[in-house]
Amino acid sequence: MNDGTDNIKTHTAARFAAVRARIAAAELRYARTPGTVTLVAVSKTQPVERIAAAITTGQRDFGESYLQEALPKLAALADAGITWHFTGVLQANKTLAVAHSFAWVHGIDRLKIAERLSAQRPGHLPALNVCIQVNVGREPQKAGVEPARLPDLARAVAALPRLRLRGLMTLPPASDDFATQRRHFRALREAFAALNEQGLALDTLSMGMSQDLEAAIAEGATLVRVGTALFGARPGPA
Ligand SMILES: *Cc1c(COP(=O)(O)O)cnc(C)c1O
Repeated sequence: MNDGTDNIKTHTAARFAAVRARIAAAELRYARTPGTVTLVAVSKTQPVERIAAAITTGQRDFGESYLQEALPKLAALADAGITWHFTGVLQANKTLAVAHSFAWVHGIDRLKIAERLSAQRPGHLPALNVCIQVNVGREPQKAGVEPARLPDLARAVAALPRLRLRGLMTLPPASDDFATQRRHFRALREAFAALNEQGLALDTLSMGMSQDLEAAIAEGATLVRVGTALFGARPGPA
């Protein structure tokens, strides 16, 4: 009867252990303080049962990218003590639900979206944690602010009352080459350091996914967003 569930649990536990071991090995290798890289499990397209299995391994930070798909999962797991991260592209007509339901938003790249989130964040919740997405590869098809426009946007977002600007996020151009991966992550780290020199007190570098988390940790990632390596390949284009 329980074979399916038990299988999912065993599988999930093994995959989560493997990714946590990769993170720990990278922390050690690149002289990062052990335990300072947060793992966000990106559970987009995954059913509630998979998330529940991940919870039994101790995982509490989860990322979702598609609001319509996410909301029923958030409702089903409302009592599980999860910190939900919105990792998708955020359109203006989705900000209300995100402001009510998530603890973090990783993809801020326009002031208008940030202003809406701040205005819509309910008073009984803590300020919404946000990261500004930077298009380090300057890819025209990708979301993210151009590096040159980052300082102005960061100052404006940091001034919004119901948001807490925590740091920067990037989705770099896909590459199998470690040096290339590092170069993009280094650009984000340098932008982060420059903002902190200007007094912004950022503490989060959200960078690194299944394919490149080691390069990200080498360059100072404090939070990696991992999907495929934890849950397997996603069905369909995502
Ligand atoms: C899907 C997604 C991830 C996870 O990517 P994997 O390659 O599956 O680890 C991370 N960050 C964002 C913004 C995503 O959309």
